[in-house]
Amino acid sequence: MKDRHNVRRTIPDVLNAIRDAKDIEEVSYYENIMVSMFASRLLLLATIATFALDYFMRMNTLRASLINGLTYLFLSVAFGLVTRIKLKTYTATLLVSILSGFTLIFTTFRFYDDIGMAIWYVAFILILLSMIRVSRTMLYTIAAAMLISGAYIVFKFPQVPDVQMSQVYHITQQAILMPAICVVAVVVHKISNDRYLSAQKHYMIALSERDEIMALNEEITASQREIEHLAYHDNLTGLPNRMLFTDHINRAISDSDKSGKPFALMYLDLDDFKSINDNMGHAMGDQLLASLSQRLTLTLKKGDIASRIGGDEFNIMIENLESICEAEMVAERILRTFDNPFVLNGRDCFVTASIGVVIYPADGNNADILIKNADIAMYEAKRNGKNQYVICDYEMKAIADETLKLSAGLYQALERNELELYYQPLVSCNQERIVGMEALIRWNHPEFGMIYPKKFIPIAEQNGLIVPIGKWVLRTACIQNKAWQDAGYPKVRVTVNISVVQLQNRRIIDTLEEIIRETGLAPEYLELEITETIAMKEKESIVETLTNIKNMGIHIAIDDFGTEYSSLNYLKHLPADRIKMDMSFIQGIDTGNHDEAIIRAVIVLARSMGINVVAEGVEKKNQNDFLFSELCDEVQGFYYYKPMPASEVEEVLKQ
Ligand code: C2E
Ligand code: MG
Ligand code: MG
Repeated sequence: MKDRHNVRRTIPDVLNAIRDAKDIEEVSYYENIMVSMFASRLLLLATIATFALDYFMRMNTLRASLINGLTYLFLSVAFGLVTRIKLKTYTATLLVSILSGFTLIFTTFRFYDDIGMAIWYVAFILILLSMIRVSRTMLYTIAAAMLISGAYIVFKFPQVPDVQMSQVYHITQQAILMPAICVVAVVVHKISNDRYLSAQKHYMIALSERDEIMALNEEITASQREIEHLAYHDNLTGLPNRMLFTDHINRAISDSDKSGKPFALMYLDLDDFKSINDNMGHAMGDQLLASLSQRLTLTLKKGDIASRIGGDEFNIMIENLESICEAEMVAERILRTFDNPFVLNGRDCFVTASIGVVIYPADGNNADILIKNADIAMYEAKRNGKNQYVICDYEMKAIADETLKLSAGLYQALERNELELYYQPLVSCNQERIVGMEALIRWNHPEFGMIYPKKFIPIAEQNGLIVPIGKWVLRTACIQNKAWQDAGYPKVRVTVNISVVQLQNRRIIDTLEEIIRETGLAPEYLELEITETIAMKEKESIVETLTNIKNMGIHIAIDDFGTEYSSLNYLKHLPADRIKMDMSFIQGIDTGNHDEAIIRAVIVLARSMGINVVAEGVEKKNQNDFLFSELCDEVQGFYYYKPMPASEVEEVLKQ
């Protein structure tokens, strides 16, 4: 009510207030003010006019003139008060109606003698006012006042001397006119009121629909904002994702170009995060990532940006560097945050991270290259033993570029027949004759010449090509061995190196069965070599696969034995026929490094478990003699033969 009362009492303002009213009650409120404003001013004029007319022109007594004038003044003030005093809408309506009715009756009773029928103009104006009103109270009051005034006129009529009208006609006219006006007023009022009400109803519906739409709109905007946030942020850690981070890098590049100040980009990867996921569950892994992101945010200065770009990999950007040292200090600081354990499920969990650092503009001119080089440096940090940072350098980038080239070329190597198998004979110690051939792959690269497996097998393992390449090696080696046997050479086993990726592939058993069937080689002439690392990893599934392979009649050898943790314990679980002692032990013979003792122990232990021992990398006579004296089963090395193409092997076999 208070703000309604504050509406200024000018006609345009009150009309505006009526237009903006929310409901009928409010319309009535302002209508009262409107009517009162008109009436108050009109009656103030009437006060002056009446007094002047009465006193000066009709020469009425001062007393009578004052009564008439003051009555109008009273009415004017009363209407004026209605516009000013805070009243309930209904009270104000009632007051305005009574004041209007009283004005009509007073005017009729006091001035009918002077203005005669003109009284009806006053009545008519009042009726019009009440007709347009939405409130019925005023209409009824005015109608009642009219009937009273009409009755007075009818009663008074015979005494008016100069009216030349038949009395009957006059009474009839009044009797019909007054109710007729009243009825018309009621009907018009009803029509306009109904129309108003229906408009009001539609307005209210529209209003509530508008509210609904606005609420809906708000909801849509909120979810749009959420979708936008999700699209640009990682929903586990809330950090910017790769897409947003790339935008940041692009912006930082243009800022750095302008300011001339370099920026650093770091690639952080947790060390052995997989084991946390495996041992503690993915939920704990997620919790670790979330608290790591909090630590990162706390460690970084304002303006530095951390982003999670996937899995356990984070990117960090440090802008406006004064020197490279600054980047190193931040990297060091980040690594120090791992000194404190992460508390997961009430348990202290120690984790470390490896970080690769690149600097713009030295290490790349766009986001992709910068991230790629930081990734290369991070891998270097892993290779160097993890839990450290490495700053990218030229050599690293060159190696990475070469790897990329080799990886691309490897895709066509099979189709273009660029792969070839070399064979290195294995010699038995007791009879000094060839008992096996290890198949060793070579890549005849059209640009780089012959490439050794150490260089491209890891790449093939990474891009998955090891599966088709490994299958080709198996088939080629089996075909070759069968061909030698068919040609009448002494029957020997062919040994094929198998990568862990191949063993993890479910189809390995099918592949082996298919190759054995197609080539017709008896399975006992095929041996698979797995590295010690594979043997120790993922024990159960690997043991199962190896057992199945062994059940097919294929032999199994453990390669590079002794290079890893040398736990002989796993030998108990593995269905191995042979172990191949790593060449580092053989080459340690006669160097005073206890290698002889190790070799001796391994031979004794393996024999007691019924496993044969092959010595790899025998290059010298003294090595060979020692192995012979220790009753090693087989030897392999340059002392006898180097790996050679199949055609050369035939020459050897002939002898
Ligand atoms: P490996 O299975 O331990 O093979 C023995 C490696 O030692 C061969 O290197 C061989 O040339 C070398 N070697 C043999 N005797 C001597 C010696 O007396 N002195 C010295 N210094 N070295 C000797 P290569 O052919 O370069 O193969 C390297 C490794 O690549 C292999 O080690 C094997 O792990 C892997 N590899 C080779 N061919 C294949 C393949 O077809 N598939 C898979 N997955 N890996 C393969
Ligand atoms: Mg091998
Ligand atoms: Mg080996």
